[in-house]
Amino acid sequence: MSQRDEIARLKTQFFSTVSHELKTPINIILGAVQLMENMDNMDKESKDKYINMQKQNSYRLLRLINNLIDINKIEGKQFTVNFINCDIVKLAEDITMSVVEYTKLKDIELIFDTDVEEKMIAVDPDKIERILLNLLSNAIKFTEAEGRIEVSIHDKEDTIEISVKDDGIGIPKEMHQSIFRYFTQVDGPTHRKAEGSGIGLSLVKSLVHMHKGRVKVESVLGEGSEFTVELPVRLVEDSIHVSKETTFANVERINIEFSDIYT
Ligand code: ADP
Repeated sequence: MSQRDEIARLKTQFFSTVSHELKTPINIILGAVQLMENMDNMDKESKDKYINMQKQNSYRLLRLINNLIDINKIEGKQFTVNFINCDIVKLAEDITMSVVEYTKLKDIELIFDTDVEEKMIAVDPDKIERILLNLLSNAIKFTEAEGRIEVSIHDKEDTIEISVKDDGIGIPKEMHQSIFRYFTQVDGPTHRKAEGSGIGLSLVKSLVHMHKGRVKVESVLGEGSEFTVELPVRLVEDSIHVSKETTFANVERINIEFSDIYT
C-alpha cells in the first residue's frame, strides 16, 4: 500500500471509529434521560441504574476525548514526561490493587507477584499508571468470568519487566504487531468490536517508548495473552521528589480508563 493510500485508509477509519464511539454513548445517555423524564415515580433502584448508565457513558466519552488529545500531543511532540525516581514495585502494586473492584465484578482472580521487594527507577508515575490501567482494562475486558489475571515484576538488572498476563480469549498471531497501531481491533465472534476504540495499545506503546522501554505481546488464541513492558533501570539526578510511597487512589482516572467494562 502506498503512503497516500495508507493515510486515506487511516483517515476513513478514524472518522468511522470516532463517530461510532461518540454516537453509542450519547445514544445511551439520551435514552436514560428520556426514560427518567417519562417516569414520574421512579424507584430508587431504577434511578440509580439510569444515573450510573449516564455516568459510565460520560466517562467513556471523556476517555475517547482524552485519548485523542494525547495522540495529538504525541504526534505534535508536545507530550511531556516528568521523570522522578520512584519504587516501581510499589507503584505497580498500588495500580494493580486499585482495579480489584472491577476484577471482583467478573469473579476474576487478580494476582500480584514480584521477585524483587523494592526497585527505584526513573519513571513518570502518571504515565506508568496510564500504561498499566490500559493493559489491565484490556485484560479484564477480554477475560471470561472466573478467569485469572497476573501482574508480575521481574528484575533483569539492566531492565525491569512488568507483565500483565490473562487467561482470556487471546489474540491471533497475525494481529500481534498491528494491535499496537491506531484503531486496530481484532474482529470475529469472540472479540466484540463495539467496546473500545483501538487507541489504548498505541498509546501504551508511545508512552513506553518515551521511557526508552519496549512493549511486547505473547498470546495464543483461546488461551490468553501476556503483555510485557520492559523499562530501563536508571535514575535521574535532579529528581525533585523521590517517591517511595506513591499511592494512586485516582478514582476518577480509573473510572475513565475502565468505562468500557460494563457493570
Ligand atoms: P480497545 O480500546 O479496542 O481495547 P486497544 O488498542 O487497547 O483498543 O486494543 C486493541 C485490540 O487488541 C482490542 O480491541 C482487542 O481486539 C485486542 N486486545 C488487546 N488486549 C487484549 C487482551 N488482553 N486479550 C485479547 N485481546 C486483546
